[in-house]
Amino acid sequence: MIQLPLSKLSNVGTTIFSQMTQLANENEAINLSQGFPDFMPDLELLNWADHFMKEGFNQYAPMGGMMSLKEEIARKIENSHQAVYHPDSEITITAGGTQAIFTAIATFVKKDDEVIIFEPAYDCYEPTVELFGGIVKRFEMRAPDYEINWNKVRDLVSENTKMIILNNPNNPSGRVLKENDLQELIKIVKGTSILILSDEVYENIVFDGKQHLSICRYPELKDRTLMVASFGKLFHVTGWKIGYCAAPKILTDEFRKIHQFNVFSVNTPIQLALAEYMKHEEHYKQLNRFFQEKRDFLRQGLAGTSFELLDCEGTYFQALRYDKISDKNDFDFARELTVTHKVATVPFSSFYKNKLNENVIRLCFAKKQETLEKAIENLSRL
Ligand code: GLN
Repeated sequence: MIQLPLSKLSNVGTTIFSQMTQLANENEAINLSQGFPDFMPDLELLNWADHFMKEGFNQYAPMGGMMSLKEEIARKIENSHQAVYHPDSEITITAGGTQAIFTAIATFVKKDDEVIIFEPAYDCYEPTVELFGGIVKRFEMRAPDYEINWNKVRDLVSENTKMIILNNPNNPSGRVLKENDLQELIKIVKGTSILILSDEVYENIVFDGKQHLSICRYPELKDRTLMVASFGKLFHVTGWKIGYCAAPKILTDEFRKIHQFNVFSVNTPIQLALAEYMKHEEHYKQLNRFFQEKRDFLRQGLAGTSFELLDCEGTYFQALRYDKISDKNDFDFARELTVTHKVATVPFSSFYKNKLNENVIRLCFAKKQETLEKAIENLSRL
């Protein structure tokens, strides 16, 4: 038997999303755990993919991505946020949001660099920072409103702070950053060399007429930011694993040094299909309304239950507090819900390093009407 070398991530197991999806499948439960749509993407987009494959676009794309797609992305960002990115030198197509995040961290975080994150946090940030020898400093946002106390964040900043990772809208809490949050952030980074990694994969899923305040709207922040987005979330194709990173040239140049050895380049015909499909703004401008209807349907369906519905300002996740129903911790409660009541969810504690339990679970509502109806029916029995 060979001796295994020391694990580089000794505290890390399989992600909670894979775990809960497996548990859902084993128990034939409705899967509201992992965040993915259970309905088809638009046939027009699928036809474009088919078209480009059959037209012979099946070999390597340029390392940074296909020009036509990068141009459409630049146009979308400029129209939405009045921010200019040069398509060729400031936008890189990646194999999904997670790869963009991994590459951004790999590019800039060195041993003993400090990285500030906000919990509940998406699960790849912390292990990726650790993999490159970085140290994570965390601010815990708490139920029910998940507000950020920027004075406490300021206390986390030191001369070793290399990066701040933001996720706006936030998965899993559904909170979106307000103007005041961005202004506080500007004050904190002013005069420093702190980089920002802004995970905005839910940028087009913001509700109640609110504006998504992308980091790139603020010149003082844009200059130091790697902004990440995902077509999986935008066009209901999470399995296509394609997204992008937009960043000033000086940051993109470094990002691509790593990107070229990480994936080299991304799926050519799919890039071309997305570029064609993106030409029509209505394909993504409708997304807020589309998901708001689903959110409202789920919330109305659960309004008469003993679950407490926390605010959901954005993303396709609804947070539920269940302390009137059970005194189990959220992990055990989520297991019980899956096994006994046939609805799989994600416990919020899995988004906190210290497994903070506030009796909150996350439901994904990117689902067909009938899926949501069945889930509401099952949850209403509790
Ligand atoms: N982003 C999705 C979620 O939050 C899952 C992604 C994954 O499974 N890695 O559920």
